[in-house]
Amino acid sequence: MIRQKIRKSITFISFLLYPITMFYFSPYLIIDAASKGLVSGSFIIFVTLFLSSLLVGRFFCGWLCPGAGMQNPLIDMKVVTKPIKKGAWIKFLFWAPWIVLIVFVFIISGRLKGIDFFYSTHNGISISDPLAYIIYYAVITIIIGLNFIFGKRGFCKYLCWISPFMIIGRKIRNIFNYPSLRLKVNSTLCNQCRKCNDSCPMSIDVCDLVQKGNMEHYECTLCGSCVDTCPQKAIKFGF
Ligand code: SF4
Ligand code: SF4
Repeated sequence: MIRQKIRKSITFISFLLYPITMFYFSPYLIIDAASKGLVSGSFIIFVTLFLSSLLVGRFFCGWLCPGAGMQNPLIDMKVVTKPIKKGAWIKFLFWAPWIVLIVFVFIISGRLKGIDFFYSTHNGISISDPLAYIIYYAVITIIIGLNFIFGKRGFCKYLCWISPFMIIGRKIRNIFNYPSLRLKVNSTLCNQCRKCNDSCPMSIDVCDLVQKGNMEHYECTLCGSCVDTCPQKAIKFGF
């Protein structure tokens, strides 16, 4: 379980750094910068995450995301226990118009004028004035609040504007089926205790995947909770 402690510590540190990094994950600033013909830091980060997902799927969601750092403690403290089963596609209803808007704004802004990685930050720091603080607390309230409304990692499932990039990258990886970070399973070892289901922060029916012998699930963040929980060692990381 030391691996899970390390993982949760990393995401919590990422959460603590969120006042610095928030604008590098901002969907709004991509559009705002695009209207001036600029490529912002958040645009570069999102593209980087998409490219990373071609090799490591949603590893970022499980191991690095500040949003995970906010939500993991709610699960660990059993403040939020309700699992989510359906409707994860809803986030694409918010994501698709946003992508169309980015392309539209880039087109109407004319030619690309440059790259500003630190766009709208102050010396690279996101939260540097009172208005930014209001935005910061509003975002945190939304992320945490959705857990209480919809259940475990409710924000990731229904609203996250970053995960669709990685879900699409993962689908592309699956089509071409080249070597990449995945979960591997030995179904014959499983005794169907369902401890993996209880441990999964994304409310995936892991035991069902194990029975099918295919651990591929678009909501899997490769957090490894099921790997570390399974008493039979039926699930492993593989490349
Ligand atoms: S925890 Fe392991 S043994 Fe138990 S159901 Fe899951 S895969 Fe099977
Ligand atoms: S299936 Fe396993 S690795 Fe994937 S999110 Fe659930 S617990 Fe984490």
